[in-house]
Amino acid sequence: MSGHWGKYRENMFLVLDAESGEHDFSLKPMNCPSHHIYYGSKRHSYRELPLRYSTQDVLHRNEVSGALSGLTRVRQFQQDDAHVYLAQGQIAGEVKRMVALIDHFYGVLGLKYTAKFATRPEVRIGSDELWDRAEEALRAALESTGLAYELKPGDGAFYGPKIDFDVTDSIGRSWQLGTIQLDYNAPERFDLSFVGEDNESHRPVVIHRAIFGSFERFIAILIEHFGGAFPVWLAPVQVAVIPISDAQRESAAAFAADLVAAGIRAELDDRNETLNYRIREAETQKVPYMAVIGGREAESASAAIRVRGAGKKQEVLSREEFIRRVHAQVEDRVLEVGFGEGE
Ligand SMILES: [Zn+2]
Repeated sequence: MSGHWGKYRENMFLVLDAESGEHDFSLKPMNCPSHHIYYGSKRHSYRELPLRYSTQDVLHRNEVSGALSGLTRVRQFQQDDAHVYLAQGQIAGEVKRMVALIDHFYGVLGLKYTAKFATRPEVRIGSDELWDRAEEALRAALESTGLAYELKPGDGAFYGPKIDFDVTDSIGRSWQLGTIQLDYNAPERFDLSFVGEDNESHRPVVIHRAIFGSFERFIAILIEHFGGAFPVWLAPVQVAVIPISDAQRESAAAFAADLVAAGIRAELDDRNETLNYRIREAETQKVPYMAVIGGREAESASAAIRVRGAGKKQEVLSREEFIRRVHAQVEDRVLEVGFGEGE
């Protein structure tokens, strides 16, 4: 019904039915058909639209082995996939809302993106008339957002035109992440409808959208983007607490416990290694903050804070003050580490 069997089969994992000797089954390559069937299983009123469904199921695509690469192109993955069912007149408003959402998400992470408007590909379903309508509507919606965009002729999905959001990583490679795809074909094929204000039956339009795209690829690009040096709110370990010697072990352990109790991902490094070795290792692990506890710091309930990448510079802060500052950076999703001062 969706047309994937005809246009997408080579990307699907097929399961051979041994009795008939034919390929009868496939692992799910995308969420769309399930959402369409779910929508079609009930009657809908115009009052419910736009109706938004989202699924993050595991998907499988039979990528050729030469195309596989790390986390960026895999055969099993998950997407932040949504399908929105709406009336023709709601397209511009919904696209505007999605563009704002994508802009917000990428902005928080400091990712720069380019919007690309992709039109009908050679291999496609649906009449030229439907494609004319879809391309016109999506382009008008895109232009109403005021966002600059590039044209990618022939690069649309086989069922409709789309806006892709490409992000460039730290070494200049471009990746397609977010997507907004307008689809007039699925509603026809799945015979989807809603009851309008006029009490008549109408066809909805479907928008397919993802913000992150595949989570696997998004995480890979995020790691590249930050070069592994995550902002404090994303870092797996946010603070390494390092006592200078055995004498401060207890005080350092208490501080690490306080940090954890305050919701901060802290680890105590009280190994029997030199101070320099442990600091170097925290630097290599790209831990944003190192809290060094010497005799003075143990006595005064303070910590000498070193910032990732700032060398030997350190600032002595009371423990409450340090916790307050880390909380503020996490709260505000601050991208830079450090507090803009220090000795
Ligand atoms: Zn879809």
